[in-house]
Amino acid sequence: MLALVKTGPGPGLELTDAPIPAIGINDVLIRVHKTGICGTDLHIDSWDGWAAETIKPPLVVGHEFVGEVVEVGSNVADFAPGDLVSGEGHVVCGRCRHCLAGRRHLCANSIGLGVGRDGAFAEYVALPMTNVWHHWRGIDEEVAAIFDPFGNAVHTALAFPILGEDVLVSGAGPIGLMATAVARHAGARHVVVCDPNPFRRELALRMGATRVIDPKEEGLAGPFAELGIVEGYDVALEMSGSPTALRNAIEAMAHGGGIAILGIPSEEIALDVNTIVFKMLTLRGIYGREMYETWYKMTVMLQSGLDIKAAITHRFGFREFEAAFAAARGGDSGKVIMDWQA
Ligand code: NAD
Ligand code: ZN
Repeated sequence: MLALVKTGPGPGLELTDAPIPAIGINDVLIRVHKTGICGTDLHIDSWDGWAAETIKPPLVVGHEFVGEVVEVGSNVADFAPGDLVSGEGHVVCGRCRHCLAGRRHLCANSIGLGVGRDGAFAEYVALPMTNVWHHWRGIDEEVAAIFDPFGNAVHTALAFPILGEDVLVSGAGPIGLMATAVARHAGARHVVVCDPNPFRRELALRMGATRVIDPKEEGLAGPFAELGIVEGYDVALEMSGSPTALRNAIEAMAHGGGIAILGIPSEEIALDVNTIVFKMLTLRGIYGREMYETWYKMTVMLQSGLDIKAAITHRFGFREFEAAFAAARGGDSGKVIMDWQA
């Protein structure tokens, strides 16, 4: 099969021949249809410090995908050839305290698809059956391809109750954009989205933001008077990884507010703990998706009218992977999709 492979330490990826993954009795083999590019893939491509420490080449990269089941192990009863599926990118151990208690998203030993095991930027990918999510017939395959980051958005947006609340989204990357639509769908009163990138602010408005903020021009309290926000934001979704964004969010929160932190900063962040204490804020780290409550919520929200399609801005065939990665890296993009059947 053809696959996008990190062949050795150093920058770059190669589209090359690789063996079709072998499956065990509990595994599912999937013919990949479409994939999404994630920031993780960009880190692995550019071979930054995190990648050099984490990635053991050769490795097939990628973890956001949709595809069709072509073969199942002898122990697999719930999937059959022809099923349209996506994969949960965290392969958990099944044996630690949290796995045994059914809280698999808290597994301390999870292995990342396309990070610690061969991934989905390939014609075929294999996963344990417990990592496979069955889509309904007729789902938009581009939307199905990005269930993994859509799940990050849903997990973060629903971390605190948002019905009727005023929500701040810091960072309008693909995940912040999807979280904006989720927060509106879940009944937030106002969703204010902050991002220095004008292309992404425009997209945020299309995703349902009440108001957007350019942090270079305006503080987070800027829209309070016009929107009737009296005490500050009730909930903030940190989706930028920016130290300033987190500090500003803490400053702009109402008493008792909650900040769900998905963004991964590249360095330590100094925080004003006095403000966190005296405002009685809750800061909660979010990693991945809940297995499989988040996947269930994604499915039923789409079925009840949630539309995240506008977050997808670029489409390429897999042979144009360099152009696809450049679009994702460029910033004037939402989600970038690669088609593996083209
Ligand atoms: P992205 O890098 O495309 O988006 C980040 C956005 O933040 C950009 O649009 C950028 O312009 C904006 N930004 C930068 N400085 C800002 C500031 N001061 N205020 C407001 N916005 C600012 O990322 P993405 O793919 O949408 O992912 C969002 C974040 O979540 C990233 O940090 C990513 O590493 C992280 N992430 C975490 C998980 C997890 O499981 N915890 C999973 C996937 C991604
Ligand atoms: Zn575990």
